[in-house]
Amino acid sequence: MADTAALETLTQDRFSLPDEGGHFGRYGGVFVPETLMTALKELGEVYEEARQDEAYLGELKGHLKEFAGRPTELYFAERLTEYCGGARIYLKREDLLHTGAHKINNAIGQVLLAKRMGKERVIAETGAGQHGVATAAVCAKFGLKCRVYMGAVDMERQALNVFRMRLMGAECIGVEAGQKTLKEAINEAMRDWVTNVRSTHYILGSALGSHPYPMMVRDFHRVIGQETKAQLLEREGRLPDEMVACVGGGSNAIGFFFDFLDDESVRLVGVEAGGRGIKRGDHAARFEGGKLGVLQGCKTYILQDTDGQIELTHSVSAGLDYAAIGPEHAYYRDRGRIEFAYAQDEEVMEVFQLFSRLEGILPALESTHALVHAIKRAKEMSSNEILVINLSGRGDKDVAQVQQLLDLESSK
Ligand SMILES: *Cc1c(COP(=O)(O)O)cnc(C)c1O
Repeated sequence: MADTAALETLTQDRFSLPDEGGHFGRYGGVFVPETLMTALKELGEVYEEARQDEAYLGELKGHLKEFAGRPTELYFAERLTEYCGGARIYLKREDLLHTGAHKINNAIGQVLLAKRMGKERVIAETGAGQHGVATAAVCAKFGLKCRVYMGAVDMERQALNVFRMRLMGAECIGVEAGQKTLKEAINEAMRDWVTNVRSTHYILGSALGSHPYPMMVRDFHRVIGQETKAQLLEREGRLPDEMVACVGGGSNAIGFFFDFLDDESVRLVGVEAGGRGIKRGDHAARFEGGKLGVLQGCKTYILQDTDGQIELTHSVSAGLDYAAIGPEHAYYRDRGRIEFAYAQDEEVMEVFQLFSRLEGILPALESTHALVHAIKRAKEMSSNEILVINLSGRGDKDVAQVQQLLDLESSK
């Protein structure tokens, strides 16, 4: 069942979105310099061909199983369920994947496309470093040159991931411009791509950017939701009542939700980063004060001021610290199909510790945002109901930062 999921991921085309221009309603599209138009068009065509090619799909499925470790478990969180005293809580264990997060699903899919296009060099950008590590891993595996751009501030917050990338042979370049986080790293990656487009494939790390990336990245992560559905049906004989996932660019969430969009009884909730609170510059919750605009190739909800200047963002988790959200999320929010909430740094720090003690699992700070909201909801739900959380990654990368924050607190 779950074993065939990777195949279904790319062949089953139940939805017509995005349209040919990459639009999800008024969101998405292609907003890049002329020099990249050809590369995006080529990528779209190669992907279209690959998704229908049994050989490509077979290879993808094999690497997802043997290299990444799919299928991941759907795990009943017994003590968390007991603690909340409401809904039965399940965790989709993407944290168990090789390199520590869902990111590897997409990295494998795209590196196979890079090979198919005959590119010998791969570039990527990374916030928390998880996408950089996943990209470094697949490039090592397939013998491709790899360069990862990372904001200098993020490099400091995620020093362990920088070292992991370098150990796997990737070049990790710190970006000193602007706020020195993900947005600036993406700018540098796009600049590199414009210059080296013939030899280089850009492995974008979330359901963001210009078409075909939001669609392609979503497709590579649909396996998360497909497995979840099959596993829960086998275990409980029914669909969940509610599903919760954290939303940075939106890739783990859309992959988790996508195959449930038609199941109207299932409530879908994305959780953004509320940072220090919903004040300008203190958070990254795009649906709390964000507006329609274009950023880095894509029309979507963006945190910007009245002049269209991108606002500063903040989150305790580097992986959610970005001013724009994936266009497909904006579309389904308008239609009321996906709801959004946010979690603040302080709650995240508390739940990180609580969850670790209850379940014996260190969650990524990103994933902890989903846990914060899910715990609130589970308490309000009945014991007949089922809540599934996508545990997008593990917290090993975050322990040094958490330790620092806790030390700071106890010295207050
Ligand atoms: C990168 C990352 C995220 C955020 O990215 P999405 O594209 O929104 O999924 C969430 N969780 C983990 C563990 C990550 O590494």
